[in-house]
Amino acid sequence: MLGRYFSDQTCSVARSLEVVGERWSLLIVRDILLGINRFDDLVSSLGITRTVLSNRLHHLVDEGVLEKRVYQNGPNRSEYLLTDKGMGLTPVIAHLMWWGDSHYPEAEGPPRVLLHHPCGGAVSGRFFCSGCASQVEPGEVMTRSGPGLRKDHGDCAERPLPPVARTGSAAGES
Ligand SMILES: [Zn+2]
Repeated sequence: MLGRYFSDQTCSVARSLEVVGERWSLLIVRDILLGINRFDDLVSSLGITRTVLSNRLHHLVDEGVLEKRVYQNGPNRSEYLLTDKGMGLTPVIAHLMWWGDSHYPEAEGPPRVLLHHPCGGAVSGRFFCSGCASQVEPGEVMTRSGPGLRKDHGDCAERPLPPVARTGSAAGES
């Protein structure tokens, strides 16, 4: 388990980092936003050990960021869905992506672009859609590869909306 490095700080940034500050956690959430949400697929995608992934997933489920769901019995196979609380990290990951595009750009262009699901317009900073000129909600963001995506890092298809647990984030907190 993650140590509570910031427990003596009264700061919401520090409290958030207790949950998602470990280096794999936001990458796991990123992959689930891309629709990669089954254990074995996450192992392959992230290049993470099964033990570390298992620990991170348990932590994120305990915190109500993810919900675990068995999709196959005998042998049991699980997938992980974003709760509303987890979906709230979409802008965090998007802004990290844009920050990286800005300060550490690929020569060919951004590896991935964000699209507004209802209209297909490009989502820009401040979560504004250039297609329909409206504010974009976290659950309305889908992605496709951009010009900088290396061929060995995935296909060029549009990703559908991420899998979401509709039971809401409050379930694990009562
Ligand atoms: Zn739009």
